[in-house]
Amino acid sequence: MVSRVIPVEPFDLVIFGGTGDLARRKILPGLYRRFVDGQMPAEARIIAAARSENTDAAFRDTVRAAISEFVTPEKQDATCIAAFLERLSYVRVDATGSDGWQTLADKMRKDVIRAYYFSVGPGLFGDLARRLHRHGIAGTRCRIVVEKPFGHDLESARDLNVTLAEHFDEQQIYRIDHYLGKETVQNLMAVRFGNMLFEPLWNARNVDHIQITVAETVGVGGRGGYYDKAGAMRDMVQNHMMQLLCLIAMEPPYAFEPDAVRDEKLKVIRALDHVEPEQIVRGQYLSDEDGPGYLEDVENPDSRTESFIAMKLNVSNWRWKGTPFYIRTGKRLRARTSEIAIVFKDPPHSIFGDQESHKSNVLVIRLQPNEGINLKVTIKEPGPGGMRLIEVPLDMSFKEALGPGADDIPDAYERLIMDVIRGNQTLFMRGDEVEAAWGWADPVIAGWEEGGDRPIPYDAGSSGPEDALMLMHRDGRRWREVKA
Ligand code: NAP
Repeated sequence: MVSRVIPVEPFDLVIFGGTGDLARRKILPGLYRRFVDGQMPAEARIIAAARSENTDAAFRDTVRAAISEFVTPEKQDATCIAAFLERLSYVRVDATGSDGWQTLADKMRKDVIRAYYFSVGPGLFGDLARRLHRHGIAGTRCRIVVEKPFGHDLESARDLNVTLAEHFDEQQIYRIDHYLGKETVQNLMAVRFGNMLFEPLWNARNVDHIQITVAETVGVGGRGGYYDKAGAMRDMVQNHMMQLLCLIAMEPPYAFEPDAVRDEKLKVIRALDHVEPEQIVRGQYLSDEDGPGYLEDVENPDSRTESFIAMKLNVSNWRWKGTPFYIRTGKRLRARTSEIAIVFKDPPHSIFGDQESHKSNVLVIRLQPNEGINLKVTIKEPGPGGMRLIEVPLDMSFKEALGPGADDIPDAYERLIMDVIRGNQTLFMRGDEVEAAWGWADPVIAGWEEGGDRPIPYDAGSSGPEDALMLMHRDGRRWREVKA
C-alpha cells in the first residue's frame, strides 16, 4: 500500500490531562506514530498540562515508556523517539485556579495553529474554556478538542454547549467520538456513496433489518464509580452507537463536508421513534471464575445501572419505515467484537425450491477485530449433483486487500487529532447533534428510572440475557453470533 502522508501546518498542541490514562495509551503514542510517518512538521510542539509537579525530562520519560508499551516494535526507532520527545514539554496548570496559566500563555506561539485537547474529567471542560479565554490564548486560529462524556443528559449537554459557545465559535469546537475516526466507519461511507452497487438497495424495500453489536469481554474494572452513574445507554448508545446508526441510515450528503454530513446525521436522530419498554432489554453481568459480577465491581449492591443493553429502534422516514435497527452492547460478553450487519430481504421468489442453505445476503462491516467488510452471497455448490446452493463470503479484509501496509492504518485518535490541526470537523459531533441524541435518550432513561426497572442478571462470557435473544425471536429474526 502506498501511503500518502501530507504534513499538517505547524501547531502548538496543549493536552490538558497530558499525564492521564487516555494521553498515555492513545493520544501520545498516536502523535508519535504521526511523527514517524512524517505528518508532523518540524515546528510542531506538544505541551502536556496537568496539576501535579513535573519536569520536562520526567514527562518525556513517561512518554518514552508509553511508546515502548503502545507502539508496534517496527515503528520504534531510537532516533525517531528522541526527536519526537524533543518536541514535548510539561507545564503545571490547574484547570480550576490560576496556577500555571501565565507560564502556559508565555509558551504559546502566535503564528501557528493552537489546539487545546481537553483530556481531563468532564467537570473541568467549562473551567478550561473560561481560562483559555481569560488568559488571552484562545484566538481565531485556535481549536478545542472535547472528550467524552459530553454531558450526562440533555440539560447538562446544553449547559456545556452554552459555556463553550461563550468563548469559542462552533467551528472551533471538536467534540470527539473516536468511533468516527475508525477506518471502517469511514469506509462505510465510501462503500455507500462511492459505489453504485449498494445505495439503490439501501432502504426498507430491500433491507430486512440492521444489527449493530459492540461487545466487550472486560467488565467495568477500575471505572466502576463513573460507569455506575452512566451505564451502557449513556456510555455507548447515546454517542458511539448512535453515530454508527446515523452513518448507516443517513441520506447521501451533498458533499463529504462537515456540515453536509452532520446535517444528514441530525435528521436521522430526529426521525428516531420513542422506544417503548418492550423494545429494550437491560442486563448486569454475574460473577464467574474470571471475575466479580457487576454489582461487586461497582460496589453498589442496589445498583440499577445496566452493563448490557439491547434495543429495537425504528427510524421513521421514507427510506427506513418498516426496517428495524437492533442494537446491543455489553460488558463481560463472550467475545470482543464490534460489527454492523445489514441483512437484506430474501429474493421475492425462489426458483430453486426450499433449499436450507439459501440464506439472505448480509453485508457485515467489522470494526474490530480484523477491520473489514464482508458480503455473504449465495452461489451454486461446485461440482455435479444438481443445483445445490451454498453461502460464501466475499471478504474484503483490509489486511488481505491492502497488503502489509494495512497494519499501518492510523488509530482513530491520531487520525482525528490530525483532522483537528487541518481544521476538518467532518468526523466530529456538532453541538445540535449531541443535544438531539440526548433529547432522544433522556425520555428512555427516565422511563426505566421512574418505573424502577431492574436490569436482568446475565452470565459473564455469554451473549447477554436470554430476553435480548427474544427481542429478535419475537420478530422472527435472530442475532448474529457474538464471536471474535
Ligand atoms: P485520568 O487518567 O484520571 O487523567 C486525568 C488527567 O487530568 C491527569 O493528567 C490529571 O493530572 C489531570 N487533571 C485532573 N485535575 C486537573 C486540574 N484541576 N487541572 C489540570 N489537570 C488536571 O483520566 P483519563 O482516563 O485520561 O480521561 C481523560 C478524559 O478522557 C475524561 O474526560 C474521560 O472521560 C475521557 N476518556 C477517557 C478514556 C480512557 O480510555 N481513559 C476513553 C474515552 C474518554 P494530575 O494527575 O496532575 O492531577
